[in-house]
Amino acid sequence: MDIYLHNTLSGEKELFKPIKKGLVSMYHCGPTVYDTPHIGNYRTFIMNDLIRRAFEYNQYEVNQVMNITDVDDKTINKSREEKVPLKNITQRYEKLFLEGLDCLNILRPTSLVRATEHIADMIRLIEILRDKDFAYRAEDGVYMRVDKIKNYGSLARLDLSHAGQTHERIANDEYDKEKPHDFALWKFKSPEDGDIFWNASFGQGRPGWHIECSAMAMKELGPTLDIHTGGIDLVFPHHTNEIAQSESATGKTFARYWIHGAFMTINREKMAKSKNNVIKLDDLKKESISPLSYRYWLMTAHHRSLVDFSYNTLHAAQTGLIRLIKIVASYPDGGTIIPDYQQRFQTFINDDLDLPQALALAWELIKDGSYSAADKKASLLDFDRVFGLKLASAPRAEYQDIPAEIQALGSARQQARLEKDWAKADALRAEIEARGFVVSDTPEGMTIIAV
Ligand code: AMP
Ligand code: ZN
Repeated sequence: MDIYLHNTLSGEKELFKPIKKGLVSMYHCGPTVYDTPHIGNYRTFIMNDLIRRAFEYNQYEVNQVMNITDVDDKTINKSREEKVPLKNITQRYEKLFLEGLDCLNILRPTSLVRATEHIADMIRLIEILRDKDFAYRAEDGVYMRVDKIKNYGSLARLDLSHAGQTHERIANDEYDKEKPHDFALWKFKSPEDGDIFWNASFGQGRPGWHIECSAMAMKELGPTLDIHTGGIDLVFPHHTNEIAQSESATGKTFARYWIHGAFMTINREKMAKSKNNVIKLDDLKKESISPLSYRYWLMTAHHRSLVDFSYNTLHAAQTGLIRLIKIVASYPDGGTIIPDYQQRFQTFINDDLDLPQALALAWELIKDGSYSAADKKASLLDFDRVFGLKLASAPRAEYQDIPAEIQALGSARQQARLEKDWAKADALRAEIEARGFVVSDTPEGMTIIAV
């Protein structure tokens, strides 16, 4: 079945065509390991996981590379602040990052690559750029000559008409879209960097953040990848500069599809460490919100829509997930996947990863009275290959007895259905649900499940 993805390059939803039939190569910009990731970061990592799972659902083999940024301005600053070697910092936060992936049921990428283990590839790439005259040496580092690059900034739709060709340089890895500058590929050794430097033909120093990803992506996946992803904030300058470096070096398209996830905001402001408004997985735990409830909540919005954090909506999502898990556990095993539902599910997933519709379909199936409970269960567990909500994991001991008054409402609803009084039956269902129970119809009858 065809897969459609919104591509930032064209600004449109496009039919996905892999470079190699049946195989998809993806590169995700991973975490900078100088602090525990916040749940905004994990929003982007969950998006990556959903993309991978959707391709696997479509029987693709997935070659999924994520990097760990373990040397850059932020990691070095942190190691100076704490007066401990860089490795102590990066190993500590890499471990925490991986634990977070596991809690959120994010599958470990097929390869995780660390910047510090690819320095030679970065140096080689800078040498190619230097030999092709795209890179030049300045007093504090080696820089990319931006005005030599055709279509520089097309991913971010930069308007360069007012920029002038100033040849101004910027040593920082992050800067403003209004001022596209020549940017640093390599930063010469400085007193602040202490012993963090490597030898290179163009001078001792360390890589800039952008060259790290170009080098690692091409080393692992070749000059052209199918898909490259990240949060929307990476479009400029990071991904813009990755394209500039990679394509100037190889003369080939670097990535065919660029997928960018929208921000998670809090009080309508981007969640970011610099804004002091971050929430971490541990904070959720203190509020009794499980990481998988967070995952479920995110799936109720499209990955290209902003989501604004609130504990209220998260608690509501958690209630929904618990219901779903309990319903699945109440159904018997041994059923078969319902083809009609599977096809509709796949159509939603393949339509630019429409998880909100796919989740709504799961609920529609639960309410659909024309299929057996066992077949419903088989279908829901099939959907869960993409959802990643561990729907099969409900401990049966969690069940509560259904109180007599709720059972009475259920019997009244059955009676109303027999009498074809649909309005009354719906009203009774609403009443049962308002009291925290879920009604599920199957040909074998109705079940009521406690939340
Ligand atoms: P960093 O560790 O800062 O390099 O960020 C890791 C990933 O998280 C990147 O892909 C960012 O685009 C993404 N990211 C950062 N803040 C947010 C946010 N508030 N919402 C969604 N994604 C974010
Ligand atoms: Zn990157």
